[in-house]
Amino acid sequence: MKLEKINLKAQLFEYECAFCHAKHKEPMYPPGGFSYGEFMLRSNSNNRLMYLNAMEDPTFLEVSNLVKKNPRLNGLKESEKSEVFQRVVGRAYDSDEGEYGIGVSPMCSVCGSTDVESYQEVIPPEFINISVPVATSEKWQKLADVEKKKLIDEWINAVNG
Ligand SMILES: [Zn+2]
Repeated sequence: MKLEKINLKAQLFEYECAFCHAKHKEPMYPPGGFSYGEFMLRSNSNNRLMYLNAMEDPTFLEVSNLVKKNPRLNGLKESEKSEVFQRVVGRAYDSDEGEYGIGVSPMCSVCGSTDVESYQEVIPPEFINISVPVATSEKWQKLADVEKKKLIDEWINAVNG
């Protein structure tokens, strides 16, 4: 899989691990934040990042609609459905390894835990230049509607389990 890359200046946030209490700095987003529809996806199995521009393909909206219509989420509030959507949507993007999500906590560099005690901007602000793959959803786009529905069901089950 060959991914295009984008160069970003990212602001560093300091995370405190809930497990071993080590502090580690991780890139979050560009100074001033992203524009509407832009996100940083983070892998849940390593600290890899992908840049997502949700306006550039129909995947984001498709996944959103399928998540909201999924019977497993009947009875949940809109805000709770959005939370599930954020945890699920990254999986619709192409990845060589691991699953990506929006708002995934970075892994502690000392113990490997992703449980976060707290996080805050590094003061004074620090920035790094990073080169991040641009997310694509070629695999997802080749699926039939029924397959998409089935996958969403599996993913919801995985993140709720
Ligand atoms: Zn730790």
